[in-house]
Formats: sequence, structure tokens, C-alpha cells
Amino acid sequence: MTGHALSIAIVGAGIGGLAAAATLRRVGHEVRVYEQAHAFARIGAGIQQSPNSIKVLRALGLEPQLRKLAFRPDSSLNRQWDTGEVTWERMLGDTVEQKYGAPYFYMHRGDLHAALADLVPDDIVHRDRKLIGLEETADGVTLAFADGSSANAGIVIGADGVHSVVREILLGAEKPRFTGRVAYRTTFPASLLGNAEIDDCAKWWGPDRHIVIYYVNPRRDEIYFVTSTPEPDFEVESWSEKGDLDALRSAYKEFHPKVRAVLDACPDVHKWALFERDPLPKWGSNRVTLLGDACHPMTPYMAQGASSAIEDAAILSRCLENVVEADVTSALQRYEDTRK
Ligand code: FAD
Repeated sequence: MTGHALSIAIVGAGIGGLAAAATLRRVGHEVRVYEQAHAFARIGAGIQQSPNSIKVLRALGLEPQLRKLAFRPDSSLNRQWDTGEVTWERMLGDTVEQKYGAPYFYMHRGDLHAALADLVPDDIVHRDRKLIGLEETADGVTLAFADGSSANAGIVIGADGVHSVVREILLGAEKPRFTGRVAYRTTFPASLLGNAEIDDCAKWWGPDRHIVIYYVNPRRDEIYFVTSTPEPDFEVESWSEKGDLDALRSAYKEFHPKVRAVLDACPDVHKWALFERDPLPKWGSNRVTLLGDACHPMTPYMAQGASSAIEDAAILSRCLENVVEADVTSALQRYEDTRK
């Protein structure tokens, strides 16, 4: 039996929320997105996108655009922190494409977010809508926002990130474990490096810390780095938290001159504490489910957080395709079971 358009509210217009809006609209549903921010900021961060996610983005028609925007190096290097010795070369470029049927991209997170935002009509993305409450009945869900407004939907998707309010409403407050490590990260113009030369993409392994450095576009004119640095006293997980450049440079002062040149050139840095969380006992209720970091946040070491959120969007839309109202709960459960 063919289903009709379901009314779906997505909370959060991050990478996962926008990907879900795009995939759910493709299977004919009526989607609205509610985002707490007033505007989207191009935060200084790079992002790796592996073939699993690119296959979803390809189905959404974004591959030609990404091939222009993203950097596709031939390989990435593992290097010894002090001597610079190459301990491993991971082949990417054509090798990955031939093996997995899709490219491996390094890009600016803001470019990926903007590409996804372009797929979603602006008039269905409601900004300045911070969700504070949900009330679920047999017929639907009412969403309450901090500005006093409300909205109704047949289904609610909590794509509201690592500090998900939807998750808290469903499951109560969580207790994440701080790993004692922080990620310093930023993007900046390669011209600031002067004559210093860097690899296309390299991970520099120290005894208790590391730094990953790569270009975020094919022009090689913008650089990104991200660290994993022991810092047991800093516990803030936020896109807007700034880091102290002197502390960062001091933490890597014994590293190879190529690393120090990058840190010396960087004008500004963000800082994100790294937490671990246990898997959730469940992701939803009859009409509400979670997606992306809201339900499976992970440490960044395998570069799979956003890729997994994009996979979620693909599977969620498959599970809700042609679904009639009476089957919504079982479809959401199928999504959760499949993703777990
Ligand atoms: P988010 O992108 O966090 O979006 C959540 C959205 O919800 C935001 O727009 C927020 O404003 C909004 N929101 C929150 N609360 C509310 C509310 N109450 N009401 C309304 N809106 C709300 N992943 C990769 O795939 N590759 C990488 O290379 C990679 N590198 C990373 C490096 C670091 C240091 C870190 C920390 C993460 C990295 N990740 C990477 C992970 C990736 O950034 C996340 O997994 C991804 O952003 C999750 O997307 P999301 O849509 O679930 O959440």
C-alpha cells in the first residue's frame, strides 16, 4: 500500500538534520526544520567524508559540486612526531574510488553544510526556534520553543546534536565521561604559512598526543588542523569555544618544525573537549526518534560522526518511504534497529 505524505518536524539544521530533510523530501514527505541558531556560521573546521557518506550525497545529487569544492589527495601520511619519518601511507584518490566506488574527500565543514542547505528550501527551515518541550499524543507531537511559539507534527526527528534536548526529554539527562583530551582545531589561509611546505594530508603521532593537518579544497589555499591533546581540566563541548594559541603551541613545542610552522602561522583556534558516551537503551518513542550525534555521538578519531549522521538520513527515509500513518511506530523502530 502506498503511503501519503507524513508531516515530519526535524529539530536541528546541522549536517544530520539537513541531510534528513533532503532525503525525507525525496520520498515525498512534508518536512519542516527547526533550528535554534539565528544564522549558520562557517565555523573553522575541516571534515573528512568517506565513501559511505559520499554515496548518500551522490544520491542527493551533490557529487559534482563536492568534486569541485573538496580536496581529494592521492594519499594521507602517518608521520613520527619528532623525526617526521613516514610510518604509513594510506592510499586514497583513485585507489579508494576503485575499491569502494566513491571518493574520499577532505573539505571545509561549512562547505558541506552549505551544500546540504542548498537542497532544502529556505522557507521550511525555521531559525531562532530553540526546542524546549515535546508533548506526544496518539495522534501527533506538539513542539514547544523558547520564544513561546509551538508547532505540530506527526513525527519528530531529534537531530539536535550532542547536547540533544529531544534525547533529554525522552531519556533524561546523560552523564558523559570526559576523556581528559581536547581537540584544538581551525582553518586558515595557506598563504599565512609563507614558504613553509606541508603535506597534502598528514597525521603526526606523538607519544600521548597527535595532530592531523590537511588542505580543505583543491586549490590548496586553506589549511585545517585538529589535535587530540591531553588537557584534563577543560570540559567544554561547544562549537564556539576558543582555545589559547600559546597553550597549543607550547603543547606541541617538541614536535617537528613542519608542525610548529603550521601552529605558528595559525591566527586563531577553537577548542572542543572530547567525551565518551555509552550507547543509548533506545532512540525514540512512538512518534519521535533521534539521528546523528543526538543518538550516537563518537570521538572523532575515525572521522565518522557526520558520515554516520548522513547514513542515518538515508536509512530513515528508506524506512519511512510509502509508510502509512498506522505504521509510523514500526517504521521508526526499523530505522533504529537497522542503524544500531
Ligand atoms: P550538529 O552538526 O551538532 O547539529 C545539531 C544542530 O542542532 C545545530 O545546528 C544546533 O544549533 C541545533 N540544535 C541544538 N539544540 C537545539 C534545540 N534545542 N532546538 C533547535 N535546534 C537545536 N565527522 C566526520 O564525519 N568527519 C570528520 O572528519 C569529523 N571530524 C570531527 C572533528 C572533531 C574535533 C569533532 C568534535 C567532530 C568531528 N566529526 C567528524 C563529527 C561531526 O562533526 C558530528 O558527528 C556531526 O556534526 C553531527 O551532526 P549532527 O547534525 O548530528 O549535529
